[in-house]
Amino acid sequence: MKLRLTSPSDLIDLGTIKDLSGIKLSGNAVEIGAMTRHAEVAASPEVKKAIPSLAAMAALIGDRQVRHMGTIGGSLANSDPAADYPAAVLALNATVTTNRRKIEADKYFKGLYETALEPGELITAVAFQIPKRGAYMKFRNPASRFALVGVYVADFGSGNVRVGITGAGASAFRQSEMEKALSSKFAPEAVASIKVKPDGLNNDLHASPEYRAHLITIMAKRAVEQALK
Ligand SMILES: Cc1cc2nc3c(=O)[nH]c(=O)nc-3n(C[C@H](O)[C@H](O)[C@H](O)COP(=O)(O)OP(=O)(O)OC[C@H]3O[C@@H](n4cnc5c(N)ncnc54)[C@H](O)[C@@H]3O)c2cc1C
Repeated sequence: MKLRLTSPSDLIDLGTIKDLSGIKLSGNAVEIGAMTRHAEVAASPEVKKAIPSLAAMAALIGDRQVRHMGTIGGSLANSDPAADYPAAVLALNATVTTNRRKIEADKYFKGLYETALEPGELITAVAFQIPKRGAYMKFRNPASRFALVGVYVADFGSGNVRVGITGAGASAFRQSEMEKALSSKFAPEAVASIKVKPDGLNNDLHASPEYRAHLITIMAKRAVEQALK
């Protein structure tokens, strides 16, 4: 609304609906209610224990004010191309639960500010699979702190590695070449020499497609180094 992208005639505040908020362990996943604030995820002992990389990622979102107001449901419904959670949703093979259905990570992001959500559909929770290890590295836009490029690497063991990228394209995407390389050998050198093609990557006053392509490799390498620590 502040950016004048929309001017709704009516507003419904979801903020006081308690059932939409909270964090719980559910089988091999961590389930986070849609109205849970980024600061709650960053500070949650459950998230820190089960998926420390997810808590660390939430701690990198915006600034203190943004983290105390912004919600995971709002972030994913908005689907800003430079938001951090989308990379985690893809890398941690999350399931987005709505008032109507469950949406798999790979079917959720559709394009620039576009998701699989239909008009009137409400996200109620997001369940992230718990990996063996993982890490998120982002190169921040120094002004907004959004991701110029953010790379989330998650190793689920038995050669199952997922890599989610945000900031680089119209919406978050997985990087299959890196996933294949890391599935054979989970080590920084497995991705260090991968040259990402700049075709189709974002081009704006902050960074060219070539620079973003370069950052994907650098951030992926750093994420693997961090995950191995
Ligand atoms: C200065 C600034 C810096 C920021 N930096 C970052 C950053 O570094 N990284 C990052 O990831 N994000 C960043 N953000 C975004 C922030 O994290 C918020 O998540 C984002 O602005 C959405 O706000 P919100 O969660 O309050 O949702 P709202 O603004 O309330 O909602 C956003 C949209 O989603 C819809 N919506 C909200 N909840 C639901 C739901 N449960 N189901 C369906 N639709 C829903 C709303 O109707 C609206 O259309 C930044 C924001 C600002 C203002």
